[in-house]
Amino acid sequence: MEQYIEIKSANPDCLLFYRMGDFYEMFFDDAEVASRALGIALTKRGKHLGQDIPMCGVPIHAADDYLQKLIALGHRVAVCEQMEDPAEAKKRGSKSVVRRDVVRLVTPGTLTEETLLDGRRSNFLAALARVGAAENAAFGLAWIDISTGVFRVAETQAATLAGDLARIEPREILVSDQLLADESLRDLLRGLGPSVTPVPRATFDGATAAERIGRYFAVATLDGFGAFSRAELAAASGALAYVERTQVGSRPPLDPPRRESAAETMAIDAATRANLELTRTLAGERRGSLAAAIDRTITAAGARLLVERMASPLTDPDAIGRRLDAVGFFLDEPERRGAVRAVLAAAPDISRSLSRLALDRGGPRDLGHIAAALAASAGVAGSLASADAPAEIAFAAHALAALPADLAETLAAALADELPFHRRDGGFIRPGFLPDLDEARGLRDESRRVVAALQADYAAETGVKSLKIRHNAVLGWFIEVAQAHGEKILAENAATRRFIHRQTLAGAVRFTTTELADLETRIASAADRALGLEIAAFDDLVARVLAAAPRLKAAAEALAIIDVSAALAEIAEREAYVRPKVDRSLAFRVRGGRHPVVEQALRAEGRDPFVANDCDLGPVGSDEAGRLVVLTGPNMGGKSTFLRQNALIAVLAQMGSYVPAAEVEIGVVDRLFSRVGAADDLARGRSTFMVEMVETAAILNQAGPRALVVLDEIGRGTATYDGLSIAWGTIEHLHAVNRCRTLFATHYHELTGLADRLPRVVNATVRVREWKGDVVFLHEIVPGAADRSYGIQVARLAGLPEAVITRAKSVLAKLEAADRQNPRAAVVDDLPLFQAVAPRAAAPAAPDPALTVLDGLDPDAMSPREALDALYRLKAERARAAKG
Ligand code: ATP
Repeated sequence: MEQYIEIKSANPDCLLFYRMGDFYEMFFDDAEVASRALGIALTKRGKHLGQDIPMCGVPIHAADDYLQKLIALGHRVAVCEQMEDPAEAKKRGSKSVVRRDVVRLVTPGTLTEETLLDGRRSNFLAALARVGAAENAAFGLAWIDISTGVFRVAETQAATLAGDLARIEPREILVSDQLLADESLRDLLRGLGPSVTPVPRATFDGATAAERIGRYFAVATLDGFGAFSRAELAAASGALAYVERTQVGSRPPLDPPRRESAAETMAIDAATRANLELTRTLAGERRGSLAAAIDRTITAAGARLLVERMASPLTDPDAIGRRLDAVGFFLDEPERRGAVRAVLAAAPDISRSLSRLALDRGGPRDLGHIAAALAASAGVAGSLASADAPAEIAFAAHALAALPADLAETLAAALADELPFHRRDGGFIRPGFLPDLDEARGLRDESRRVVAALQADYAAETGVKSLKIRHNAVLGWFIEVAQAHGEKILAENAATRRFIHRQTLAGAVRFTTTELADLETRIASAADRALGLEIAAFDDLVARVLAAAPRLKAAAEALAIIDVSAALAEIAEREAYVRPKVDRSLAFRVRGGRHPVVEQALRAEGRDPFVANDCDLGPVGSDEAGRLVVLTGPNMGGKSTFLRQNALIAVLAQMGSYVPAAEVEIGVVDRLFSRVGAADDLARGRSTFMVEMVETAAILNQAGPRALVVLDEIGRGTATYDGLSIAWGTIEHLHAVNRCRTLFATHYHELTGLADRLPRVVNATVRVREWKGDVVFLHEIVPGAADRSYGIQVARLAGLPEAVITRAKSVLAKLEAADRQNPRAAVVDDLPLFQAVAPRAAAPAAPDPALTVLDGLDPDAMSPREALDALYRLKAERARAAKG
């Protein structure tokens, strides 16, 4: 217990898996927590301070399953192993305790086992560091997947942090205690859902950061990896420190940190990501998401790359063009695509196997994966050899061709066809590969035959036909007969003592003989020798694989790129997608666009096919600003679908995919915003309308001329006139200040009047036909404004009681009559808000004199008295400006 308590107190925040023989045991509170979480029996063992010690345990061979459950429930586990053979400990004296130590902390962000990971998703550990004081603090973000070696860093701000985390989707995030004191940050992390691990502030110490990273990668300077900011270095070193701590001395083979600059990717904030259902739906499922609709990748690494590309679409038209070339190549060559995809089906996950092998956690099957992947790489390289491939594919093929051929040959020659999971099971080296091993195995198997012969001899000699020679872990080999026979043998044997009694059980008696004991020693030593030789061969093969690790990783990346390119070609062909034209203009022209997810869903349900629609948000004439389309139309007409399909087309185009449309031209979008009015965020303590307004504010404050903004029914979560007014002001601001390409769907038909006053606002509507009092949705977007929403007709379709429908119709008639006496134009012109806002927003007004004064102030250099004087000066300037 002393040893247990010492080890436990060094790992207070983890459940301690304490190795005892073939079990991991847990004690005290850990035992209670684990037995409840795992549904296993709670027992007792000994006493501590006069109290029973609660205990529970899991068998070693099933430990992974239990670990998975505990991790999924948010626990962390410290795995404590026996560091010596119990026999060794005995040599030090009968009372001495087997040496034990924690060999690894298992946390959600540091998993490597196949059984604990989702093959098609990355498993990121992120670290967040803050540098500088509150307002102008910079955040450094580092994220590592130790199961694949991916290591990235980026700098971010308070405003963009949520979006970045939503993009990376870390399983675990490290945050210093000090940062966690910040309530807004705590809220943000809670909303996003990764498991938050508080770490001491010193983990992010900037002074030693570069040194720690250099030490990990054994380089004297980080210059070769690129330039990093202080915040990035602090985050990267914090993440590495945690990797070192949890892996206790083993070093997963990480790629050097790669910096991601915000300018290289389309900024998509957390709300937009959720709203567009990129990788999962609002309900949290993959089914129904964009990823599920377009993912045709064959390999797990390909699936991970596809999601990564979708999560961070590019902004450089040339880089996008290179990806599109790769897709086009496979689209034009269906046979080659088919051949490559057939080979990829047999390519396992190299990166993850490689990480496990490097961490000494791998088994024969991981070697098998590497061998199979090498064979697949050769196959893919062969399929591409004769091709005149575009740059991306040629580069990938080159990486595949650079793989060491001798490694593939050695592994193929060394590994048996059927591989066990654990190396300790043996039997994974192919017969004929190692002469010594064959000899030891021969001896072992020969001995087994000798056992069989001996059994026949003894049976004949004693006349007991049912005599058996058996083996178990306690007795080793022994002779077993039924009890009656046993007594007979003992009696006959009294003189010779040939059969030596070992054990009497209910119904059976067990013996041994000197012959059998001899044989036993021979068998055991042959089996031991065989296993020892196999394990030595295993270690040797692992060393060879690890020596080729950099080339294997490059090949893994190449296979993923080829998989993604071929998969995007596959979907492009199946779903008739076209290559988008992406350039540096401000165009946004979609002809015949479709919603990739709805289109497939309608087909799967056997409903009418999707109606394709056009969208043009590009500048009018030589104007340097985008159009703002106000979309009105009936409920259920297809407004939301149209809005989202255009946002999704932008994401697909910039991630380097073909798009569901007849023709598309897009000037790169640097920021994408998509909002639907009225979505609760009760978990974060915000009402429906508050969420809507916070999100709208973010857009109005951030969207620039390259942004694409999609707003769906903004302003509907409040009283009609409040909502209308806010929507109105929002459109004017977007038009005059943000000047971005915008789609704005609304049921406030009053807003269509804005098209007459604002040059870049255009109206569009969804066509419907009325037929015998019912509406028929045509889902066709056409220029013009709707005059009504057909809400009551839709309500009837939804099954509202007839009495409610009748009453609603009569109320509507009254309201509309009242409205006619107070025409819409007049209402609008009466609203002072817009008259006041619009001109100020539109004209880039002369700088406010008060602001000029403010800019000239240096608070750090001022005495309190001077500060007060300055305040009076500012007030005076403001008063003067108001009069002027
Ligand atoms: P509301 O104003 O009530 O929110 P809406 O105008 O936003 O409605 P959507 O939710 O976009 O309507 O569409 C309603 C349904 O119509 C969709 O679920 C889809 O099944 C179908 N639909 C939408 N667009 C199309 C289209 N272009 N072709 C075929 N079906 C469509």
